[in-house]
Amino acid sequence: MLENLRKTVSEANQELYRSGLIRLSWGSVSGIDRKRNLIAITPDDLSYESLTPNDLVIIDMSGKVIQGKHEASRDAFTHIELYKNFPEIGGVTHTHSVYATIFAQANREIPIYGTMHCDYFADTISVTPKHQLEENNEHHTTMAGKDIIKTVAAETVMKTPGILIHGDGPITWGEDPIISVKNAKAMEAIAEIAFGTCILNIAPNC
Ligand SMILES: [Zn+2]
Repeated sequence: MLENLRKTVSEANQELYRSGLIRLSWGSVSGIDRKRNLIAITPDDLSYESLTPNDLVIIDMSGKVIQGKHEASRDAFTHIELYKNFPEIGGVTHTHSVYATIFAQANREIPIYGTMHCDYFADTISVTPKHQLEENNEHHTTMAGKDIIKTVAAETVMKTPGILIHGDGPITWGEDPIISVKNAKAMEAIAEIAFGTCILNIAPNC
């Protein structure tokens, strides 16, 4: 089922693994077939290194597993909220890449400090509203998805294709899964440079 989508999402997962943005099995990539309203997503707690297209889990828009020998990623409900609300989105990537996660945990948005930021994200990269942190279960990931929807404007969703989930990490999207991974890599590079910029701004004479 959905062989082409499985292949693309698997390639996107491998690209994410090669990028070094993933530690352990933290994170997830998905893609959607809009005609069938089915999503192929990273399985929960499986090593990226050995992931094959057949390991991906096919879920519907309610999160129900339609096909797969593993559990779907626990982030699935966050991905679903994005697909439900923004029909332009074809792929979603969530990571805990270090510098972007530092901003997410510190509840700090990433302002535009330079041209590289503008090349990928037209505006400030926002943080979702602050919540009591709880176990990363279905409720938590559904809440994260709903917070993203409240924070992202429909008119600019594809111009600023990512956000920081408070206390968690970055999530990016794109027209397809490969572009969503590219945006994850861009966000991490921008966060790293912004982090250094913030430090030098605090201590301008060092
Ligand atoms: Zn997360």
